[in-house]
Amino acid sequence: MNDAATEFQKTKELTDKYLLDLYSRYPVAFRYGVNELLFDQDNKQYIDFLCGVAVTNLGHSDPDIIEVIRNQADKLMHTSNWFYSEEASKLAELLILNTFPGKVFLCNSGTEATEAAFKLARRYAEQKQIGDPIIISLQKSFHGRSVSGISLTGQSKIHSGFGKLLEGIEYVQPNSEEELVAAFERYAGRVVAFFAEPILGESGIIPLTHGFMNLARELTTENDALLILDEIQTGFGRTGTMFAFETYGFSPDAMTLAKGLGSGFPIGALIVAEKFEKVLGPGTHGTTFGGNHLAASVAYETVRAIQTRDLLSNVNSCSDIAISRLHQMQQKLKLIKEIRGKGLHIGVELTIPSRQVAESCLNKGLIVNATAETVIRVMPPLTISAKYLNEGLDILESVLTEFQNEQK
Ligand SMILES: *Cc1c(COP(=O)(O)O)cnc(C)c1O
Repeated sequence: MNDAATEFQKTKELTDKYLLDLYSRYPVAFRYGVNELLFDQDNKQYIDFLCGVAVTNLGHSDPDIIEVIRNQADKLMHTSNWFYSEEASKLAELLILNTFPGKVFLCNSGTEATEAAFKLARRYAEQKQIGDPIIISLQKSFHGRSVSGISLTGQSKIHSGFGKLLEGIEYVQPNSEEELVAAFERYAGRVVAFFAEPILGESGIIPLTHGFMNLARELTTENDALLILDEIQTGFGRTGTMFAFETYGFSPDAMTLAKGLGSGFPIGALIVAEKFEKVLGPGTHGTTFGGNHLAASVAYETVRAIQTRDLLSNVNSCSDIAISRLHQMQQKLKLIKEIRGKGLHIGVELTIPSRQVAESCLNKGLIVNATAETVIRVMPPLTISAKYLNEGLDILESVLTEFQNEQK
C-alpha cells in the first residue's frame, strides 16, 4: 500500500472504532476542495454534485468566505445572545429584506429551525386556547432528526424504534388537494399549522404544485393557521430564485432555513412573519451558540455573495444545460424514468437502485447523492462552471449507459 492508502486505512479504522455507526459511508476521505472540485487522499479529483447535501452552495474554499472567517475569528467568535451583536443584527436585516416582513431566530441547524417552528405552532395553539391542536404535514416529507423533527417527518422508516412520537400531527399526500381539504374539515377549529417543503428533497425531489400551495395558503388563512415552509434545502438560490416560495405569489407565515446559509459553517434560522412575531416571547425559546459572531458574519457574506455575484443567473443557465442533457439521456436510456426539479435541485428517478449508480459515479470522479432508493440527486454548487457541469454529466451518462447495457 502507498502512504495515502495507509493513511486512509487509519482514518477508516479510527472511524469504525470511535464514531457511532450511523451512516453508510463511501470509502473516500476528502482532503481539500476548490469550488466544484474535491480531492481525496490520493489527490484524485471529483466533481461535486452533492455540495455536502446542498450546503456548500458557493463551492469549496471560496476566497471571500475564507477572508470573512479569518477576519471575524481574529476579532471575536462567540459572546452570548444576552448581548447585542452587530453581525447577528445585520444578518437578520438581510434575511428579512430578502423574504417577508417579520423577525428572525438564529440557531445552528435545520433540525433546530424545525424545533423552533414546532414550538411556534404549539405556542400559537396555546394563545388561541386550542387544547388539542393539529399540525398538518406531508407524507414523504423530511424535517430533521430530533423528536419534533421526526414527528413532523412523514416517513415510517424514520419514525420506527423511538416509541411514541409527538401527538397532534397528521400527514396528507403531497399534492393531494382532496386530502388537504379533508384534513382541514376533519379537524375544523383545531388546525394550527401546515408544514411543507416546497420541493420534497430527501424523498427524491418532489415539487409541490402551485395549485396545492395556493390551496394550502387559502385553507391556512381561512382557519387562522400558520403556513410554515421548510426551505432548509431549497433556500439560498438552489432552485433558481433566492427562495422557492418566491414563485408562489404569496409568502409563508414562517420559514425554516439552514444548509446553504452558512457555506458549510453550521447555522440555521426561523423567520416569523410580522403577524406572528410576538407568539414566541421573552424566555420561551433560546440557544447558546445560535447566530454567534462568526456564524452570522459567514452567513451574511454567503447571502451577499449570491446577490452581488449574480449567481442566480448561473444557476438558471446551468439548470437549462443539465435538464436538457438529462432529457437527451432519457431518450437513449430506458432506465431513466423521470427527471424532476428546478434550478440546480434536480432528481433523476431510475428504474434501478440508485446507490450502485452513485458508487460507480464516485469511482469515476463524480459525487452524486442516492436517495429514496431509486433517485439520483444533481445538486452542484451555484458557482459551477459549464465545463465541469458537462464533465460531471458525461460521467453520469457513461455510468448510466453501462447499467443500461448490463440490463439488456
Ligand atoms: C437537511 C434538512 C433538514 C434537517 O437539517 P439538519 O441541519 O440536518 O438538522 C430539515 N429539513 C429539510 C428539508 C432538510 O433538507
